[in-house]
Amino acid sequence: MAVPFRRTSKTKKRMRRTHLKKDARTTVVCSNCGEVIQPHRACTKCGFYKGKNVLNREEETKSKTVKEVKTEAVKEEKKTTTKKTSAKKETKSKETK
Ligand SMILES: [Zn+2]
Repeated sequence: MAVPFRRTSKTKKRMRRTHLKKDARTTVVCSNCGEVIQPHRACTKCGFYKGKNVLNREEETKSKTVKEVKTEAVKEEKKTTTKKTSAKKETKSKETK
């Protein structure tokens, strides 16, 4: 059996062991919510992977939010229209005065 000619010095041992270290975990940013996540894995916060909700988390809330946004937009439009009409009425009333 082959035997080392010399004992490995402290320096050589330590130089070899400099590579035996843990690297920081690679992270990416979720394209949906912006959370820092592991690559090639579904987002633990929103459940999205490759633009799809694969874990079906907050599905109801998401759909609700979309509907709410639409309804809010409609309400805002109605408000603006009512404001416009009220403004017109005000102008008319001013004109009459
Ligand atoms: Zn996410």
